[in-house]
Amino acid sequence: MLQDSFGRVATDLRVSLTDRCNLRCSYCMPPEGLEWLPKPDLLTADEIVRLVTIGVERLGITEVRYTGGEPLLRRELVDIVTRTTVLRPTPQVSLTTNGIGLARLAAPLAAAGLARVNVSLDTLDREIFRKLAHRDRLDDVLEGLAAADAAGLRPVKINTVLMRDVNDHEAVPLMRYCLERGYELRFIEQMPLDAQHGWRRENMITADEILAGLKEAFDLTEDDPVERGSAPAELFLVDGGPARVGVIGSVTRPFCGACDRVRLTADGQIRNCLFATEESDLRTAMRSGATDEEIAERWTAAVRTKKAGHGIDDPAFLQPSRPMSAIGG
Ligand code: SAM
Repeated sequence: MLQDSFGRVATDLRVSLTDRCNLRCSYCMPPEGLEWLPKPDLLTADEIVRLVTIGVERLGITEVRYTGGEPLLRRELVDIVTRTTVLRPTPQVSLTTNGIGLARLAAPLAAAGLARVNVSLDTLDREIFRKLAHRDRLDDVLEGLAAADAAGLRPVKINTVLMRDVNDHEAVPLMRYCLERGYELRFIEQMPLDAQHGWRRENMITADEILAGLKEAFDLTEDDPVERGSAPAELFLVDGGPARVGVIGSVTRPFCGACDRVRLTADGQIRNCLFATEESDLRTAMRSGATDEEIAERWTAAVRTKKAGHGIDDPAFLQPSRPMSAIGG
């Protein structure tokens, strides 16, 4: 088991398949992009599958989420998913993606056993999309969403980050768009994880603000909090349900006490928290001939030292040197 010193058990593994992305969302990276990880540092598909297998077979991982960067850019994605879904005990396998390319890949991914997708969508306005993501790709994202739904990757979940004076007027239109299509919408508070270090608390749209905006147009009632478990989103029934909306108050309503996540970066580092400043290098161990047992021991030790909370409110808080795109959101 991957247990930390506070008794939390990590069962949900987030695996970044690449740090590259085809969008440049301003809360994540600068318009010119970043210096990408050198290819030899990236785990190969075989190395990823080996580590995921150790996690599932030896360490109690029950959910595997492939992410990035943009995971659809990884050519071996369908193969990696296929090799993950045949593991025993069978993990639930999902994907966090910006949706570009999903129109082509949704059906093969569903056939490979992928359970569901979270697609990031911050706006329905083409011009705002172009400004926010520095690419004119809104139509590709919307096509990808429709394809995921048609392929049965349900419920299709949408992740939205609202930014002040950019897209903060879009909570209600996005909610309507999702209600009409049966997508589940989740708003995420913007976190200090951008490569440019431009995050300012006063610019962040808080969970309270998001809820107040939604309540002007919809009747929201809190969904059963027991069902939430370790899920980061506080869920609300919309207009009596069954449709729901989630609000992930990562900064103002932290849920670290119930966290069950552990992360593997595209270059083979274990991170016990999004905001960790230390990592454990499984790639070097693996390439130096470590056995599965030795890797499992190293991984267990990395989780044991997980801190009680992310500490964003602590005056001594230090933003991790890796940006979100290189960690795997
Ligand atoms: N490219 C994929 C995507 O767009 O979903 C996967 C990686 S992306 C880093 C994963 C999620 O992190 C997205 O939903 C994105 O909106 C979110 N994200 C990125 N930077 C963030 C930040 N600074 N604060 C909050 N969420 C962020």
